Amino acid sequence: MEYKVLYRKYRPDNFNNIVGQDYTITILKNAIINKKIAHAYIFNGPRGTGKTSTAKVFAKTINCENPQNGEACGKCNSCLNIKNNPDIIEIDAASNNGVDEIRELINNIKIAPSYSKYKVYIIDEVHMMTQSAFNALLLTLEEPPEHVVFILATTNIESVPITILSRCQKFDFKKISNEVIKDRINYICKEEKINITPEAVDEITYLSEGGMRDALSILDQLSSDTNNIDIDLIINNFGSVPNIVIDNIISAVEDNDLNIIKDNINKMKNSNVDYKVFIKKMIDKLSLKAFSNDNKISLDKIKNLVFDLVKIINNYNININPFILIELTLLEYLDNENIVTDKKEENTKIISREIILDENKSQEKEKNEENKTNISKNNNEFVKIRMNNCFVNAKKESLKFAKENLKKIIENNLDNTFLNSMLIDSSVVVASDDIYILSCKLDSTVNLINLNKTMIEEKLNNVKIAAITDDEWLSEKQIYINNIKNGYNYEIKPEIEENNKTIKKEEKIIEDSIEDIAEKIFSNDKIEIE
Ligand SMILES: [Zn+2]
Repeated sequence: MEYKVLYRKYRPDNFNNIVGQDYTITILKNAIINKKIAHAYIFNGPRGTGKTSTAKVFAKTINCENPQNGEACGKCNSCLNIKNNPDIIEIDAASNNGVDEIRELINNIKIAPSYSKYKVYIIDEVHMMTQSAFNALLLTLEEPPEHVVFILATTNIESVPITILSRCQKFDFKKISNEVIKDRINYICKEEKINITPEAVDEITYLSEGGMRDALSILDQLSSDTNNIDIDLIINNFGSVPNIVIDNIISAVEDNDLNIIKDNINKMKNSNVDYKVFIKKMIDKLSLKAFSNDNKISLDKIKNLVFDLVKIINNYNININPFILIELTLLEYLDNENIVTDKKEENTKIISREIILDENKSQEKEKNEENKTNISKNNNEFVKIRMNNCFVNAKKESLKFAKENLKKIIENNLDNTFLNSMLIDSSVVVASDDIYILSCKLDSTVNLINLNKTMIEEKLNNVKIAAITDDEWLSEKQIYINNIKNGYNYEIKPEIEENNKTIKKEEKIIEDSIEDIAEKIFSNDKIEIE
């Protein structure tokens, strides 16, 4: 891929070409016209808003031999040689050389400029300098030589020491407005003979978040292989999502339309859409909704949904399709009493989480029936071994402790929607000190827990877990009781991963009655023995 580097090609070479920072430019031009040049400036603002470009134009203009109304003439020696001017020194404080360069600059600062009026030091990302570099810079700023001008640029002014700030004239660079970015994209596309649809211009503008450099860099990448840019190209290359999809989903939440949400989210599960872009667009749209008058959902609901979506971005660190979490979150905002669905047999009062989990299961089935069977076979095997090993050392005290332990995990991880959605729907039914067996109402919850057991085990301080359905548990419990009745001795079996090792366990002598044993292992509310 060959980028045209549009940002550099279209970098402004005078104040008139700098877009979106009119106020700052006016003040700087007036300073030049009135010959009131300060010794230090600090340009503060988000990335890509023109700080470095402005610094370069300012350096060029104050060194111009014949400035016209605050603009460089473009014809004098200084203007013509601006690219090779040794008196304009750029330092990137974010790079490793920052400190050395600052030291060198301090050493050379007293030497007069080679052939310009001013030696101009442009220090980019100045907040990244070390404390010792700041100290050195401060000494210079306290007594600056007559011919020196500093322009410090930063995206994070809070990290610049106040002692430095107090010696600089400060300018705030604003995010560039959408209209200005759109105009610039259209202008450049015309110059570069790129065909671009209005929808695509809007989308690039959205993705650039008020940064011109980002907008042009996106345009660069999109135009590297083609001169025709449309919305599909952007969706494929940048994981964006069409606004119409966002509108549809939000309307569906308002109308309690389960199927529209599921259809749209399902499409995204199998697409290139970046869930973070999706969530960001949802939040932007919801925020707009909050200020409009025609809300079908309450302000509280909007606020909570926004926070829940933000939580997904902050907590997402597991290997599962993030759109499953998004779907779960959205469905929680449906009014269960009034869900619109065209599946007649579906119980409209069913808990939304359950609907979606069942749906996921049937989709997986459709996707790969064969593979699925294998997975559950393996899962089944590991569950059986763990259940057996749990029975060997199961105690009622362990069960009580396990239940408390699980409750604590949920309380301590309230932000982890995914973890909670699994654990809230399950309960420990039998436990030893190091193995818990969880029972759940739904197959889908069982599968999720078994697939993500490592994550849960870490939270449980490496107690091992396995999940089964409530129905399975009823029959397993019966089998266990029958086995004990028939004198069967449970022995520790090796886990699947350690097939080659065999762990021998001392024979367990059963002296207690069946009822006593059962009573020892199961809690009272679960036990049913005739
Ligand atoms: Zn000039």
